[in-house]
Amino acid sequence: MTVPVATEASLAEQIALYSDPETCPADALVPVPLADEKAFVVWQQDIPRPYLEASPAELEVRIRRARATLGKRLVILGHHYQRDEVIQYADFTGDSFKLAQHAAGQAEAEFVLFCGVHFMAESADILTRPDVRVMLPNMAAGCSMADMADPDDVAAAWDAISAAVGTGTKVVPITYMNSAASLKAFVGEREGLVCTSSNAEKAFADAFSRGEKILFFPDQHLGRNTGYAMGVSLDEMALWNWRRPDGGLTGEQIARAKVILWQGHCSTHQRFSVEQIDKARREHPGINVIVHPECRWEVVRAADDSGSTEKIVRRVSEAPAGSAWAIGTEINLVNRLARANPDKKIFCLDPVVCPCSTMYRIHPAYVAWVLEGLLQGAVVNEIRVDGATRQWALVALERMLALP
Ligand code: SF4
Repeated sequence: MTVPVATEASLAEQIALYSDPETCPADALVPVPLADEKAFVVWQQDIPRPYLEASPAELEVRIRRARATLGKRLVILGHHYQRDEVIQYADFTGDSFKLAQHAAGQAEAEFVLFCGVHFMAESADILTRPDVRVMLPNMAAGCSMADMADPDDVAAAWDAISAAVGTGTKVVPITYMNSAASLKAFVGEREGLVCTSSNAEKAFADAFSRGEKILFFPDQHLGRNTGYAMGVSLDEMALWNWRRPDGGLTGEQIARAKVILWQGHCSTHQRFSVEQIDKARREHPGINVIVHPECRWEVVRAADDSGSTEKIVRRVSEAPAGSAWAIGTEINLVNRLARANPDKKIFCLDPVVCPCSTMYRIHPAYVAWVLEGLLQGAVVNEIRVDGATRQWALVALERMLALP
């Protein structure tokens, strides 16, 4: 196996292609050595060369051997959107909320390997005992949506909104789980909280019981879908464009808004469209359409149902044999649901095979590297949230975990 050598021009092209969250990084979901992954050019590069060239079969043997030796000292958490050749090693699988609960419940483990993206590993570090070491297999596995909320931009927005509404109106900040630990700390310090797609309505209800307005970041779609489901009209929601002065809003627009939405989105879920739903219904009369609330408002309205990945898994798994489902969420999860429910027709609304490009960065070679490092006493790719950030982020996370 040879590591591909890129010319300067092709390297620049590849970096542009694979750095763009709108661009699909995988031609097919087929296991290949890390050296053959085209997107490796923008992944963590300092992995030792033998891991790059190891075959999928060799990596599986090495991971299983290291995993067995580490025993209960290690817990592996796997997000639903992980590829099959990684999720197979997870002790617990789930969406970000369920995995946060598993992290908080760890009593025995010394190490947590989080097969997900960066913000999830940060939350695990915050929720576990201080002596537990949390690791992310590939440090380049971030989240394009989380990156759309820069802490300085959020702080500037908060100051501008606070000045616009004056002291008589209370704004409660809510950050989606998909955000940096510093933003979780930001809302924790300001009487706000974290939410996930599993509990966004409860978080909004909590915020409205304590204030008149919500500032929600970074996903405009989850915020809009949640507000709308709770009776907030589209006219009462304003969109804060962080690229423009004062978010592109007038003082009057801010004063009128009950919910101010950050202009962020998920590149994976924003691909789903009403046209795809219409096509699925035309071609499969009687089909059930269920989508994730990170999809656009009009897509959620056009679907039969919407919900977190946990809800999608539950609805489809509990559905009667013979039922048909078109699903608007990440392809790895949809493919696994289809395999686990052979008595039902299940397919992804988006005909283009496109996994979450950052979840996809967790390749088994990185898992082997981190686990074999532990066997040698080295903690590779540790995620550590500093003390002050941890303290306030924990406040915001615990407010979420305490929701009824
Ligand atoms: S699916 Fe979307 S929100 Fe989730 S990690 Fe990927 S880019 Fe981020």
